[in-house]
Amino acid sequence: MESQIKKIHQQLVSKQITCTDLVQKRLNLLKQNTHNTVNSLLTETALVAAAKVDEKISNEEEIGLLEGIPFGIKDVYMVQGTYTTASSDLLKNYKAAYTATAIQKLLDAGAIPLVKENCDCFGHGSSSENTIFGAVKNAIDDTLVSGGSSGGSAVNVAKGYTVFSIGGDTGGSIRQPAGYNNIYGLKPTYGRISRFGIMAYASSTDCVGPLAKSIEDIRILLNIMSGKDIKDQTSYTSQEISRENIACVEGVKKIGYFKNFIESEAIDVTIKADFLAVIEKIKAKGIEVKELDFFKSDTLVSTYYTLAMAETASNLSRLDGTNYGNRIEDKNLKETYAVTRSENFSKETKRRVVGGNQVLSQGFSDAIYLKALALKDQISESFEKNFKEVDIILSPVTPAPPPVIGESLNDPLAMYLSDEYTVGFSLGQLPTLTVPQGTVTGLQITAAKKNEEQVLKFANFLKDTI
Ligand code: GLN
Repeated sequence: MESQIKKIHQQLVSKQITCTDLVQKRLNLLKQNTHNTVNSLLTETALVAAAKVDEKISNEEEIGLLEGIPFGIKDVYMVQGTYTTASSDLLKNYKAAYTATAIQKLLDAGAIPLVKENCDCFGHGSSSENTIFGAVKNAIDDTLVSGGSSGGSAVNVAKGYTVFSIGGDTGGSIRQPAGYNNIYGLKPTYGRISRFGIMAYASSTDCVGPLAKSIEDIRILLNIMSGKDIKDQTSYTSQEISRENIACVEGVKKIGYFKNFIESEAIDVTIKADFLAVIEKIKAKGIEVKELDFFKSDTLVSTYYTLAMAETASNLSRLDGTNYGNRIEDKNLKETYAVTRSENFSKETKRRVVGGNQVLSQGFSDAIYLKALALKDQISESFEKNFKEVDIILSPVTPAPPPVIGESLNDPLAMYLSDEYTVGFSLGQLPTLTVPQGTVTGLQITAAKKNEEQVLKFANFLKDTI
């Protein structure tokens, strides 16, 4: 699909549409939608911003490419003055005091936020059912889950309620819902976009990224949000990626895929067959394809969940009803903390906090937490070796199609295992893009650290090849 941002920009500049009309229509769609994508609407501020854009256009002033473009924000981002609930009971009345860096950059460019979007609470989940706002329904088949945790964001983009949305990806939360709803979703290299102002889940793999309908929109948004931020010491300076540089596939000569992903018992037969058919088409274009060895899926999933649970237990310890959260008073301070947290955290969040504190506790941390850290290093080293041999790693996004709503809630372990193809790239801190092609839940294109350009280039090639 062509760039939606450029198309709408053209319509605004040529006065085919007004920004107020554009924004009002999308707000109406969001309000009426039955997919449960909305936690709160930003109606008033959006309409004020739209009127300003219209005034500029009628005064024949120039507007920037993103000016007046309506977008959505996963409800884990601080946006000053807006409800920022993380889809949780604990923060359902919390309003952010400041704005996340990535969002501020979009606001500075003139984009207009319409909605704080439904998701699994605190990013805990793969289906967007773990939320106080009701399960988010899949954009293509509303009996199925939307994926998660950025499910509301993916569905809003897929349905055209927002032009793009900003999700968060710790272990797959942008890429997997993008795959389930047939759109593009990018998890950039860890640190390329500042994490300042995204509610921390697992700080060592948390990434900010865009969901959109075209590669060009992903490129535009990545360029705007990237950059070193003094408020996030893990962020770094990066080069802009030009449209020309990603237009042709030159430079991508050899790709690889993980043999054990495709031979896994968990993989659906159609996804496997479709993936292998894509490999044949790529070979037919003269690109060399290499089978690679990788860690077993259960090692990847246990390493990721050990670290993610440890980090979330630590990050969420601040939510005790004192500075943040709905406080429930009890007979003393300790009981107040206990009741506030046990009444206001979901079952899934409690499972992670308890699990995380367990792996961090004396007597367990050497055998479990430190072992997971060592494995994370080995996974990164293995990727470094891979990228000496190949330019791109191609993989499916998920082993199976989206489940029916209600199914994954009964079996948390099965849900964790369904993340087997996404979490490894998170642990490796690599740039990975879901493209809505190849299999029913899309394909993931991954390159070496900081090499988003290569990822987008290969995405353009695949768009024309399969
Ligand atoms: N499904 C994974 C988890 O629950 C990933 C979630 C995410 O990326 N926020 O941890």
